[in-house]
Amino acid sequence: ERLDIVIKVIPCDDDGVLDMAAYRDLLGEKTRLVCVNQVSNALGSINPVAEMATLAHAHDALILVDGAQAVPHQQVDVREIDADFYVFSGHKMYGPTGIGVLYGKEALLEAMPPWQGGGEMIRTVSFENGTLFADLPHKFEAGTPPIAEVIGLGKAIDWLDCTHMALITRWEQQLMHHASERMREVDGLRIIGNSPDKAGAISFVVDGAHAQDIGLLIDQLGVAIRTGHHCAQPVLRRFGVDATCRASFAAYNTPEEIDMFVDALQRVLTMVR
Ligand SMILES: *Cc1c(COP(=O)(O)O)cnc(C)c1O
Repeated sequence: ERLDIVIKVIPCDDDGVLDMAAYRDLLGEKTRLVCVNQVSNALGSINPVAEMATLAHAHDALILVDGAQAVPHQQVDVREIDADFYVFSGHKMYGPTGIGVLYGKEALLEAMPPWQGGGEMIRTVSFENGTLFADLPHKFEAGTPPIAEVIGLGKAIDWLDCTHMALITRWEQQLMHHASERMREVDGLRIIGNSPDKAGAISFVVDGAHAQDIGLLIDQLGVAIRTGHHCAQPVLRRFGVDATCRASFAAYNTPEEIDMFVDALQRVLTMVR
């Protein structure tokens, strides 16, 4: 609002796949920054971020990729994507809360001023000659950092690296496939987001049962799912719903847990319908 920035939204089709032709049309002379999630937390769609980066760059725009839902599920190479900026959160990848990563291309970060002042981010300070800031990344890391969280996030990344991401990706795809199959048995269940390329989560609604009620009751049966608008109200509105249930998959989940989930869902639905 302060800078009068105009935000344009890339539409998606009924399966939750981004409309790339519309994206191409939206890119113009005034486009400065494209922001997109690599994997949608509301739909599970995997977006073609490398192709989107190429198109953005052809229009002299930068691209910021939100990888919060990508890094726990698949190998990510920021250089292969050619992302100018890439962000992700610690707590989505088995790490601590309150910490995440902002990656940026060095030349861009060099050109940017600090966003905050504090300890450890200056080289020299003088009332006569002004202030020189410290080198990257310190320029952007004012004040005492959350040291315990940094160590915890480092351990989480090490664990993901040692576990071999390809195995996790394959395992989770099997879980997702099994869940999609089993969920077909549930009367009146509609999956929101049917992209052929999906990871991490299945969003769904069930006729005659509110997502919140399903979430509360299934919790009593020992199954934790996420319900609500998933901080993505516009995309839910696009699909004509105000809340969904979302079953998420992690490396530690098992096919038996998927079965438990679907059985519990059936029990819950007999209670609320
Ligand atoms: C969770 C999530 C965020 C927000 O991350 P926090 O660290 O919880 O603030 C942003 N984008 C996506 C795609 C997410 O899944």
